[in-house]
Order: sequence, then C-alpha cells, then structure tokens
Amino acid sequence: MSAETAIESIFQQVVRRNPGEDEFHQAVHEVLETLGPVLVKHPEYAEHKIIERICEPERQIIFRVPWQDDNGHVQINRGFRVQFNSALGPYKGGLRFHPSVYLGIIKFLGFEQIFKNALTGMPIGGAKGGSDFDPKGRSDGEVMRFCQSFMTELHRHLGEYTDVPAGDIGVGAREIGFLFGQYKRITNRYESGVLTGKNPHWGGSLVRREATGYGTVFFVDEMLRARGQSLEGRTCLVSGSGNVAIYAIEKLEELGAKVVACSDSNGVIHDPDGISLETVKQLKEIERRRISDYIKHRPRAKYHAGASIWDIPCDVALPCATQNELGETAARRLVANGCIAVAEGANMPTTPGGIRVFEEARIAYGPGKAANAGGVATSALEMQQNASRDAWTFEYTEKRLHAIMRDIHGRCFEAAEEFGSPGNYIVGANITGFRRVAEAMLAFGLI
Ligand code: GLU
Repeated sequence: MSAETAIESIFQQVVRRNPGEDEFHQAVHEVLETLGPVLVKHPEYAEHKIIERICEPERQIIFRVPWQDDNGHVQINRGFRVQFNSALGPYKGGLRFHPSVYLGIIKFLGFEQIFKNALTGMPIGGAKGGSDFDPKGRSDGEVMRFCQSFMTELHRHLGEYTDVPAGDIGVGAREIGFLFGQYKRITNRYESGVLTGKNPHWGGSLVRREATGYGTVFFVDEMLRARGQSLEGRTCLVSGSGNVAIYAIEKLEELGAKVVACSDSNGVIHDPDGISLETVKQLKEIERRRISDYIKHRPRAKYHAGASIWDIPCDVALPCATQNELGETAARRLVANGCIAVAEGANMPTTPGGIRVFEEARIAYGPGKAANAGGVATSALEMQQNASRDAWTFEYTEKRLHAIMRDIHGRCFEAAEEFGSPGNYIVGANITGFRRVAEAMLAFGLI
C-alpha cells in the first residue's frame, strides 16, 4: 500500500469515528494530505500507528455550565475541554466562548494546536476548550457568573503541569481574570502558571495581548523577505476587529504598511486613508461595540453591511476573524487584484478551495499553524516567567517573540525544501510540527 493510500484510509476512519464534525475532518485532512513523504522517510511512524494515535484525543471533557442571568433566570450552557496531545508538554490552548461552539469546532482547534505548539519549539502539548455561551450583550456580572460556573467544573482537570488554558474568540483579559479568581479560590493556590493571557499586574506577560497579531505580521514580513520583498508601503486588508486584528494592524502600520479595511461578522469598514487604530481600539476594547460605529468617528470611511472584505484590492491580506471566512471565490478575487501574500491570524480561515487557489498562484501563503503561533508562543513565555517568578520588559519579550517567529519561518521553509515542496508553508508547518510530536511519542512507548 502506498503512503497516500494508507493516509486516505486513516482519514476515512477519522470521518467514520467522528460523525458530523466537519471542521475537525477539514483540519485533519489538511494535515494528513501533506504527510505522505514523511511516512516514506520514516516507516516506523506507520508501524507504530503514530498518525492514528495523534488523531484520537487523549481525553475529552464535556460538562454542564449552569448560571443565573441578571433577570434571575437559570441558563444552561455546555462546556468543553479536549486535551489532545501531551507528548511535548502540558496541554496548552485557548478557550473559545461563541454560540457556534460544539465538539467539532473544539476538536479542530485542539488538533491544529498540537502542531502549532510543536512548531514553536516550546515545551507545550495541544488542547482547546470553550463553550457555546455568547458573551455578546451580557453584563460583566453575567460573564463573571458564567466564568465562575465554568471553572467550578474545569478546575479539576487543570494545573500548571497538566493543562494551561488561555483566551481565544470571546475570551480576553476580563474572562481570564474571572476564571483565575475562581481557580485560586477553589484550590487555595496562587498558581500563576495555570492560565495565560493574564493581566500583567497579576502574573501576566507583557506582549501577550499583542503577540498573535504582531507575530502574524512578523511571519508575513519573513515570507516577503524570503522573496526579496518587504511590507513597506504595501496596502493591506485585515479581516476581523478583535484582539488579533487590532494588533496585526498596529504592527503593519509600524512597519510602514497601510491597512485600508477591517471587519466584523456584520460588515466591512473601508477607510482608504488608512484605518484609525485608535478608533477601532476605543470601539472594540473599551466600548465593546460593533465596527459599524466606526463611520460616526471617521465620516470619510465607508461601511458595507454584509460585504466581503476580500473584494477590496490589496497587496497583503491577513484573515484574522474566524474559520472558513475566505473561500475559493474570495481567493480568486485577491489573486486577480494582485495580492502577493496571505498570512492567517485566525485558525483555519481559508477553505480548502481557497488554499488551492493560493498554491496554484504561488503567492506567499502562511497557514495559521505557523503564522499565528506567536500568541501561544508568548503564552509559553508567560509560563516561563511565572515558573521563575519573574517579569520581563516589553522590549525583551517582543524580541523573544520576533526571534521565535523567525525560527518558525525558517523551520517551515527548510522542511518544505527537504520534502520537495519549496515555498509551500503548509507542507513545511505540518511536517515540522508532526515530526516533533511523533519523535516524542515514539520515545515514550505505546501511549
Ligand atoms: N487561542 C490561541 C491560539 O489559537 C492562543 C492559545 C494559548 O495562548 O494557549 O493559538
């Protein structure tokens, strides 16, 4: 049986064993289809069923989260934590609070996290968690009661050497504060390293807030440099307007690029003069409003309800919103408009059809596993500071992040060459991440 046939049969088995989990199937397919050359070079991986084992989470926890809203009504949500792989370190990965969350979303995110975390070179395993709770329109009191109830169950599965959650969509510094407070209260331990993304006043790391967005820009900068190009003077699109998008815009501007559009799930802001980051921060970080309010502050900008941001001409596109936000049609439009680079700040934002378009056009395409790994890498730096009871400066921490992103780029670039797909960062990222995990699993015996 050829390596490709063996892999296809493993994939079919994953689909059968995990019915209805489309996003998980998509994430697994995206990794497995690049692993053929690795199995040829390392027959021991097939013999020990490493791929089959990696596709099966080590542990999946699903639990009830009851809480009371401001009207005194009882609400019930579902909580998840999928502890996917701990070969390289304690489980590590964010929590997502969004109404779309179900097991298939958490599993796709957890699966991606294994390889992303391995790629950073830091000692962290892969996990993801969250809930179908919708924080939109909820008061601080409601969010607090939800977080306390969520942690009341989850705390028994966590620990700085066991599992270390952080934020993702719908989970920022406010939620991490409530979660940490409840963990501390239940366990009677000030265990800083049990969560990352904490406020720097009480154990968080400087640069963690900026890290995913900054890291994505460092990555796209590296991809351009490898082609003898730069970000200077480039016109950019950044989808989303959450934490990742905001700090991607900030770093793009710092490096001399111009961001002309951003978005939320309702519509797109097009500001040809360059997005006012101050306005976006005020609306999203402080007032928690929709991006449509932007035009009240910047009358020359346009708001297009329900439009696709990818229709706007650009040199560089950074999808920083959510999964499957950039499909085949959008990808064709970007390429036709002269886009030279795409880097994913979000997890799996480009559909398989979109990826094919970028590959055929041979533009620089950085998959999320590599491009957005700066967030979790800085979480690992936060764990390092917590373990040594230290706090680093912004400058030093950013320097570390920059070096990590350069290394990730270098590893992906070299692995893609070694395995016969020069310039293909998907191949490079998947193979590099997979090999690290596979080697550890082999060393541990049958686990
Ligand atoms: N949610 C982020 C990610 O997708 C960060 C996870 C973390 O810092 O643990 O990588």
